[in-house]
Amino acid sequence: MKATIAVLPGDGIGPEVIAEGLRCLRALAERHGHEFTLTELPFGGAAIDLTGNPLPDETLHACRTADAVLLGAIGGPKWSSPTAKVRPEQGLLALRSALGVYANLRPVKVHPALQGASTLKPEVLEGVDLIFVRELTGGIYFGEKRRDAHSATDVCTYSVREIERIVRTAARLAQRRRGKLVSIDKSNVLETSRLWREVTTRVLRSQFPDVSLEHMLVDSTAMHLIRRPRDFDVLVTENMFGDILTDEASMLAGSLGLLPSASLGEGTRGLYEPIHGSAPDIAGQGIANPCGTLLSVALLLRHSLALESEAAALERAVSEVLERGARTPDIAARGTPALSTREFADAVLSRL
Ligand code: NAD
Repeated sequence: MKATIAVLPGDGIGPEVIAEGLRCLRALAERHGHEFTLTELPFGGAAIDLTGNPLPDETLHACRTADAVLLGAIGGPKWSSPTAKVRPEQGLLALRSALGVYANLRPVKVHPALQGASTLKPEVLEGVDLIFVRELTGGIYFGEKRRDAHSATDVCTYSVREIERIVRTAARLAQRRRGKLVSIDKSNVLETSRLWREVTTRVLRSQFPDVSLEHMLVDSTAMHLIRRPRDFDVLVTENMFGDILTDEASMLAGSLGLLPSASLGEGTRGLYEPIHGSAPDIAGQGIANPCGTLLSVALLLRHSLALESEAAALERAVSEVLERGARTPDIAARGTPALSTREFADAVLSRL
């Protein structure tokens, strides 16, 4: 097949992990006879340096017309001073919004060989296989912001339509998995959460009677995620709660560097990125874990290009390499040798 992929390496370790994702994409294209046009474009801090804009028009246009977008990470101290007028994160929020990708899927699966890499006890982690569906283009991150000398305000708004569509995405996923959906809110305090709970109950009752629904308060979910993570299947929540809980859940797997994400809208075009940031503390050293990016490439192949067997082959290769003991420093046991980003990807490529 022919496909165009807009590639946004971004900042910090972004370009380092994206380089390995591209090598895997090229290898899969060659092996399976696909023609992928991979167009690299400036984004985030790198784009601010070049053009003054974190999301230049040329980058936005390429993303809008591509079949999929692959993103590394953005941000860093260089662009984060409190007085900065333009920030890399503005580019990311604008891109998500322009692409209409309102559903952020974050699978968290604990690899048996990595149970020791987490700070939690192995018996708590056994069999953990959950997926978060985070609403991505609404809520407090997108609401009106005000500031004066004495106070600051961020407005949180959700419409019925925004809640319905994300809940449907999550319920459809649950139907293909273990049929269990947990909806997370703070309905004892927030009006948006009370609406969220009402709409979720109605959508599930009327359209997904085969999916079991449990409502859970966000604070209680934060506790249950580390107490009994195995019990969760699909979790759906609003933007900010999802932002926080998915970082917590990533620690079940052992490192932020391991986990992929897909952001999807109505069509097949999606935005795929590892869940980690630009990791300025390790940038430039060639030691970042590329797993989150490689698994994001697998999600891209599956969801935007419908190349299921290529996606599964890449996931299998990553899993086998971990099984055989390959480790980047973030997941290596203390005192044991670790591989560089490039060496880890070499091992994945040789399995492919
Ligand atoms: P971070 O995810 O960049 O790093 C947190 C910790 O995890 C660091 O110690 C880092 O070394 C480690 N880490 C992250 N990814 C890793 C990988 N692949 N391999 C090994 N270790 C890894 O979060 P942060 O330090 O809070 O943020 C740094 C910058 O990234 C900030 O400017 C922030 O705004 C930005 N950020 C961007 C995104 C994004 O691009 N979507 C997401 C989160 C944070």
